[in-house]
Amino acid sequence: MSQQETQLSPEYLITLGQQFGTPLYVYHAEKIKEQYAKLTTAFRGTNTVFFYACKALTNVNILRYIYSIGANVDCSSINEVKLALHAGFPPQRILYTSNGIGFDEIVEAQALGVIINIDSLSNLEKFGQKFGHSYPVGVRLRPNIMAGGNLKISTGHDKSKFGIPVDQTDKILALVGKYGLRIADLHIHTGSEIKDVDVFVKGIEILFDLIPKFKELQFIDLGGGFKVPYKEHDGETNITELAQKVEQAFANHASVNGSPVNGSGGRPLQVWFEPGKFLVSECGYFITKVNVMKDTDAATFVSVDSGFNHLIRPMFYDAYHRIENISNPTGAPKRYSVVGNICETDTFAWDRTINEVREGDYLVFYNAGAYGFEMSSNFNSRYKPAEVLVKEGAAHLIRRRDTFEDLLRNQIEL
Ligand code: PLP
Repeated sequence: MSQQETQLSPEYLITLGQQFGTPLYVYHAEKIKEQYAKLTTAFRGTNTVFFYACKALTNVNILRYIYSIGANVDCSSINEVKLALHAGFPPQRILYTSNGIGFDEIVEAQALGVIINIDSLSNLEKFGQKFGHSYPVGVRLRPNIMAGGNLKISTGHDKSKFGIPVDQTDKILALVGKYGLRIADLHIHTGSEIKDVDVFVKGIEILFDLIPKFKELQFIDLGGGFKVPYKEHDGETNITELAQKVEQAFANHASVNGSPVNGSGGRPLQVWFEPGKFLVSECGYFITKVNVMKDTDAATFVSVDSGFNHLIRPMFYDAYHRIENISNPTGAPKRYSVVGNICETDTFAWDRTINEVREGDYLVFYNAGAYGFEMSSNFNSRYKPAEVLVKEGAAHLIRRRDTFEDLLRNQIEL
């Protein structure tokens, strides 16, 4: 598949904006397939499985597409688990990596038959009391590694709430002894936007020290966090290099220390990854229309028909999204601040060079598939955008824009 086939043209994006209205999220199925193929090609011949971290984008049509291309799914709430089941994933291909949840959700997940990762000693103890050895369970560990694009998306460092700190392994082992827990996998997730593949190798090294202590292990789960290029010259995580280094790390260990990388019954451990952004970020385009131009001494503001209620990443993470004026591609480049229509400071981009912008122009935000629509809200009582899936050359509406009734739907008028 050529790059062109997996990139939607500006002209086509304009027609979608005209047909479905703006603001509009558009996803390109074949781009997801291309990204998934990068993973499976690089890890071909190894015992590796990929679980799509669906918190990035849960539209059921995206879930079904991801299932159709062969990936498993990683969930972060019981409702994501239910959506994955609804989309057709069988329970044994659904992983629920929980964080700080009530034990009732874990009981529900067990009843649904999905794979469960537990991230606290408290829930692990309750799991032991209720299920003992009868149901396999994974443990989410906090490896005390600082990694990721910024602190807000770093989850494995020594001040993070996520996982059971590796220095509390003895406490995990005590629970295993007390309740006969069947620990089937050890999980770590150090953060998002990790370009340096050695971070994953460091994680494996930490797990290698622990593997011999867990006699019924079958899998190690290295989480997600592969980087995708948000800026023009940003690279992405080199997956081929990652595959080679993971294989090398396993080979080194087998020779140093007998065969610690084997799991229960002497079978080789399977390696899991949970990519979110890597699969769906670049497939997504967010199309907006310019409402108002405002010249001031400080900046020329471009105010679009959206805001952080639809794409929160710039305000929340200082994230960079490439923005293009697709309706005036030959306009003279000028510097603008692109802002939203929300009654809060609501800036998408500061001092950004864009081809001359006029009221009514279409601006597209690239890399909008992951954590875009998914983190949207009705703040300021604005409607959530529509979503469109482009697949095999045809555009399908996969979520209609909110209507006024949606704003009132769950309100109880006294
Ligand atoms: N796995 C876990 C446990 C996560 O918390 C996350 C993101 O928050 C992911 C996977 C996916 O991360 P990314 O979208 O950066 O690949």
